[in-house]
Formats: sequence, C-alpha cells, structure tokens
Amino acid sequence: MAFKLFKNGDDLYEQGNELIKRGEFSKARSTLQKSIDKEGGEDDVAAVQVALIDMMGKLDRADVYSVLVSKLKALKATDFEFGLTHVDRDPLIVEAELTQRKVALMTQRAQKKDLEAVSKNLQSLAQDFQEKIGDRHLVIQEIFNNDTTVTGLTEFFNLMAVSYEALSDAVVWESPSQAAEYEQIAMGYRQQNGQSGSANDAKVRAYSNSCRCWICGRSASGEGIHFYSAPADISPALAKESTDEGTNKNRAEDNKHIYICRACYSGVSNRANEIALGYHQKAMAELRATEARLQAEIAALESEIRMLRLRSN
Ligand SMILES: [Zn+2]
Repeated sequence: MAFKLFKNGDDLYEQGNELIKRGEFSKARSTLQKSIDKEGGEDDVAAVQVALIDMMGKLDRADVYSVLVSKLKALKATDFEFGLTHVDRDPLIVEAELTQRKVALMTQRAQKKDLEAVSKNLQSLAQDFQEKIGDRHLVIQEIFNNDTTVTGLTEFFNLMAVSYEALSDAVVWESPSQAAEYEQIAMGYRQQNGQSGSANDAKVRAYSNSCRCWICGRSASGEGIHFYSAPADISPALAKESTDEGTNKNRAEDNKHIYICRACYSGVSNRANEIALGYHQKAMAELRATEARLQAEIAALESEIRMLRLRSN
C-alpha cells in the first residue's frame, strides 16, 4: 500500500487524493506539493500525482510523458491511487513511454517529412502497443478522458492505419495507384477498429480514377492530384463527340464538367491569373487618375469659395 510511505505528510496526501476525486486539481496540486515538501521525498506517490495533474491539457506534448516516467521510476510503491483510479506503476511506465513515442511520431506525420521512415516507426510502435499492452485499456485515457475503450489493441489498429495513410501521402505524387492500395489497407485497419474508413474510401476512389484530358488528350490517374474536374459548358454536339466512360472519359456524366490534366489546368489557371492581374492593375491606375482629377476639382472649388467670401466681406 502506498499509505505506509507517508508519515507526517499522510494527512496532506489523503486530503490531496480526496481533492483529485472531486476534480479540484489545482487545490490538490498545492496540497500534494506541501506533502512532498514535508516528507522531503521526490520518490513518493504525491510526486507522481503532481506530474499527472501537470499533464492535464498537455497530452499532445511529448515532454510531459518523460517527466511522468522519471517520477514513476523513482517511485518505491508498486501501485497507487489517483482519485478513483487504481494505478499499477510498471504498466503505466510502459504506457507513458509508448505514448511519448506516439506523440513524437504523430507530430512528424503532421509535418509530412520523411513519411516513409515515420510510417516504418509507426508500425513498430503499433506492434509494441499490441505486445506490451494488448487488450488492457490505457490508464492515461481513463484518467484524463474518462475513456476505457482505448486499448493496446485499438492503438495497434489506429497506428497501423495512420502508418499506411502516411505511406499513401509519400507516394501519391509519383504513383497514385500505389497510394490507392495503401489507402485500401488503411481502411481495413480503421474498419477493424470500428470506424467507417470513409475518408480512406474516398481517396481510394479518387486516386484510382483515371481520365483523358479534354484539352491535350493525355491520360492521367489520381483525381485532385494529377487531374481535376472543372465546370464547363458542354453543348449536346460536343457531348456526343466526347465520352464519360472508363479510363478514356474526358467529361463527367452530368455534362457540366470536363476533366483536365494538372499541366493543362495549371497552365490555364496561371494564364488566367496573369490576365486578371493585368485588369486589376489597369483598373487601379484608372481609379487613381480619377481620384487625382477629383482632388484637383475640389481644390479649384475651394479656392473659388474663398475668393467669393473675401469679396462678400
Ligand atoms: Zn492536358
């Protein structure tokens, strides 16, 4: 039991834990800190509880987990209470170390740098969650989010999905069909985790979609990446001459969109931007000329008014 570690600080410790139970964390923190000061130990349960309270609202920061791990490793007791939650020391050390790795990798994944390496590391982390935590639920999620549905296994599926999504992002520029395969795998992991995987499914369909450019006639795969659907006025005669089927389609079924490869699309939109900028600059120059003319007329009128006033005086 944790309590026997405390002598003079016992009362303060118990009071601190009562405050945690009631959700009064800042009061609990100062009471627990007093308990630490009295007992003079960094190796007691109160130090771990303070570290846990300090994590609140910062679960997406890797550094809070390393503080928690160092306090847990200094702890002599093998288990303790945090409010209503009974916590075993060693499993929490494992969980905090894995979560710290997760937070760091998810940050790298969001930055989209070295995605292939990030993906590989996410997979080995996923396996560690599966092997070291398995179907036990995560204590950190229970304490901070009152959620006992997140387990080592659900983290495995989640991280595997994220790793394949990262791989998809890494290759979609070079190979949309390969990216579609990775999204398909990611969708499988999401579905095993009870999610719909609809975002993956939408990417699978977009990345495997192919067309023939309306403008240049080149083939392109990967909608939204290597070709776009653009609103256009397609007359019935043009619709008859074009196709909306298979990989040769150059217009959408609705007859209101044509397909354009990235090169044509960017060429046309860059030229359109240049033309629009030219009009903008011309309009601004005319506006400035009008303003100058009006200012001159106002100045002339003002001087005329002054002259009239002088005369009438
Ligand atoms: Zn084209």
